[in-house]
Amino acid sequence: MSRTFHILTYGCQMNEHDSEKISGMLNSIGYKELDNDNKDAISSADLVILNTCLIRENAAQKVFGKLGALKGLKRKNPNMLIAVCGCMMQKEEVRKQTLKKCPFIDIIFGTNNIHELPELIKKAHIEKAVSIIENTEKIYEDMPKARKYSHKALVNITYGCNNFCTYCVVPYTRGREKSREPGDILNEIRDLAKNGCKEVTLLGQNVNSYGKNLSNEFSFAELLREISKIDGIEFIRFMTSHPKDLSDDLINAIKESEKICNHVHLPVQSGSNNILKEMNRKYTREHYIALADKIRHEIPDVAITTDIIVGFPGETTDDFMETVDLVKNVQYESAFTFLYSPREGTKAATMENQIPEDEKHERFNHLLDTLYPIALRKNEECIGKTYKILVDEVSKSSGEYLTGRTQHFRLVHFKGDKSLIGKIVNVKIDTVKTFFLEGTIV
Ligand code: SF4
Repeated sequence: MSRTFHILTYGCQMNEHDSEKISGMLNSIGYKELDNDNKDAISSADLVILNTCLIRENAAQKVFGKLGALKGLKRKNPNMLIAVCGCMMQKEEVRKQTLKKCPFIDIIFGTNNIHELPELIKKAHIEKAVSIIENTEKIYEDMPKARKYSHKALVNITYGCNNFCTYCVVPYTRGREKSREPGDILNEIRDLAKNGCKEVTLLGQNVNSYGKNLSNEFSFAELLREISKIDGIEFIRFMTSHPKDLSDDLINAIKESEKICNHVHLPVQSGSNNILKEMNRKYTREHYIALADKIRHEIPDVAITTDIIVGFPGETTDDFMETVDLVKNVQYESAFTFLYSPREGTKAATMENQIPEDEKHERFNHLLDTLYPIALRKNEECIGKTYKILVDEVSKSSGEYLTGRTQHFRLVHFKGDKSLIGKIVNVKIDTVKTFFLEGTIV
């Protein structure tokens, strides 16, 4: 009988895609994934893997909560293997703390050595198997991937980050920035297209610096142009764009191609120059606003979304109000908002002037009160318009509805049969809410 596994993924799309690689590796050695909808998956699997995230405090807390539950399951079924991987394990102090708190963990590996998993499983039947590669130049191209969807795919273009924003652990957990060779990326996407994939999302901590460290420099805009020549690929998305590196050529590439989605996720983090400097973001609010204006001017039908951190150490009321002012100025289609939480090992965690929690919450609510009406008004502009949408899945809230996204990344619900999943339909928008649109297939 084949062995089974269950994988729980925390954090960002990078981690989601790493989990697809982990699943692919496990399938290649005969393990079968238990259906995520199966409530007993976690208790009946031979191998349970937690792919962890360290970027926010609550993601790490969730992992410890889940490990607490796994302790009981392991007691009942000592043959179950428990593996923990991902960003939390890349940090030595966190790894040590996790092993101390949870000595029942059988396997630990990191973000740079997913390819070692089959060997680690063999070893874990004899002794605890811990292996981490701190930093590596090497990119493993031939790892099998068990992708969650066949009609859309996540594709790494860079790994790691060189920016060292003072609040962020990524440069410590994923190492220095490395770009994949354009040929490898294009071959992967050609293969995906041959197998029916219609949408790719290109992933990198900073896609705009793609190619800078390749022996033959190749820009992100050039890469997008090459991908848009691939037959079968209809939607090209990408994230994340660091504002300091977004080039005019990228704006031109988006303008030129129907396939490159008119959506730029451009994390601002703060609207105050003082805070941006403390964050080591390497741009000013003036630069950011001018860039957003240029993008909106050059690509009139564009959506700009962002990430904002509230309550960074030393943030005064005036600094915060500059963020609110910037939000009103840029008029974001949507935003991910975060309360600052200190991450061990980062410079910001050692800054003295941390903001009290109640103050952070008050500012956070003020920010949402600014963002939401803008998002709703922008969504209202979609009423009566028709959008080309790749049908993703059955809606989680109602079995009668399907969901997909506009090229601007707006979530749309519409009635339809699940046989349409993976097909492209035209949907006319009837009603809107702050976070989604509702429409009818036409
Ligand atoms: S650009 Fe800054 S926030 Fe983004 S991954 Fe790199 S260090 Fe972290």
